[in-house]
Amino acid sequence: MSAPPKSAPKPAGRAGRNTELPEHLKCYKGVWVFIEHDRGHVHQVSWELLGEARKLADKLGVQVAGVLMGGPDEQLDAFAKEAYTFGADLCYVMRDPVLKGYRNEPFTKGLTDLVNQYQPEIMLLGATTMGRDLAGSVATTLGTGLTADCTELNIDGRALAATRPTFGGSLLCTIMTLAYRPQMATIRPRVMALPRRDETRTGHIVEATLGMIETDIVTKLLDFIPDTSRSTVNLAYADIIVTAGKGMKNADNLKLIWNLARVLGAEVGATRAVTQAGWLDAERQVGQTGKTVRPKLYIAAGVSGAIQHRVGMESSDVIVAINTDPNAPIFDFAHYGIVGNAMQVLPVLTETFRAHLDKRVRKVA
Ligand SMILES: Cc1cc2nc3c(=O)[nH]c(=O)nc-3n(C[C@H](O)[C@H](O)[C@H](O)COP(=O)(O)OP(=O)(O)OC[C@H]3O[C@@H](n4cnc5c(N)ncnc54)[C@H](O)[C@@H]3O)c2cc1C
Repeated sequence: MSAPPKSAPKPAGRAGRNTELPEHLKCYKGVWVFIEHDRGHVHQVSWELLGEARKLADKLGVQVAGVLMGGPDEQLDAFAKEAYTFGADLCYVMRDPVLKGYRNEPFTKGLTDLVNQYQPEIMLLGATTMGRDLAGSVATTLGTGLTADCTELNIDGRALAATRPTFGGSLLCTIMTLAYRPQMATIRPRVMALPRRDETRTGHIVEATLGMIETDIVTKLLDFIPDTSRSTVNLAYADIIVTAGKGMKNADNLKLIWNLARVLGAEVGATRAVTQAGWLDAERQVGQTGKTVRPKLYIAAGVSGAIQHRVGMESSDVIVAINTDPNAPIFDFAHYGIVGNAMQVLPVLTETFRAHLDKRVRKVA
């Protein structure tokens, strides 16, 4: 290979990029979080994102703002007060009858107008059904960059460095939006830790108007019918998860997983190999194309620890792996490893926990 010609321009920035912010983007300031709420409840991912926004804003020396949109009779003021305790300095609040219940059109217009008026440099949304829908249309309308499903956020110069899995999860890439503002990102629930609430923090509200009426909106909200066919699996927010991998051999053996989960008051998780085999529902899948979880205890039985599974559970406080293969990748990141046959180890664990927990209950009584 020949040496580059002496006249070749020197690469700009650390990785050959020009990180100097163009003059016309310098007026964009602040980190925003879209606060998602539904039927009186804020989605916890919004508080997780406020914690992350606080860290980014402190590095940039700017403010954190929450964005609350909803009907005039919704508890937006109470949500704003809660947002301050999780790190927001202020909240932009837009109240309008057409914002009661999520619809893409009015929410896209409302959020786009707010961005055009107040010019934040970063905007974060939860990678929920609503957040993904809204983020995509807002980024398209504004003509800016959006990095979906980020696993890590950082500041490089003045740019948001948004990291996400790529090439089927086998690589991580860091994406920067250098020439457009705001820099948008979605993050899945539980990827970021819930920040500690600071009840002494306060903030202020900036009221905003939508400027849209019902007849401007094509989509109509006729009724809300909860999906009762869906089970109440709440894997993302479970404190303890017992996960079955393909090493459990067959669906019948999963009763060993359920038994341990019952004793521990745990949720049952699965690898993709298990959901694809039809042994457990897809909504129990943990990993890149399943749920991201962050329990206090994660027990993985017969799970190899492939990268696509790992990215969904490696933030668990304590990971216990049971695997016959001492060289299984899961032992590289598990806190405790048991080399053994899950069909023999699980019943022993179940009985040991049962006896221990029974003793504690008797002591308390
Ligand atoms: C684009 C893409 C997305 C993906 N998304 C996900 C995802 O979201 N979640 C996910 O999980 N996977 C995902 N995968 C699949 C992933 O790559 C792995 O194939 C999968 O995680 C493997 O599942 P497993 O560990 O259950 O099975 P295997 O890889 O077959 O591992 C079984 C393990 O069980 C051990 N074992 C065997 N017998 C016993 C026994 N008696 N007792 C104890 N241990 C035993 C074996 O040593 C082995 O380590 C994805 C793949 C791709 C390409």
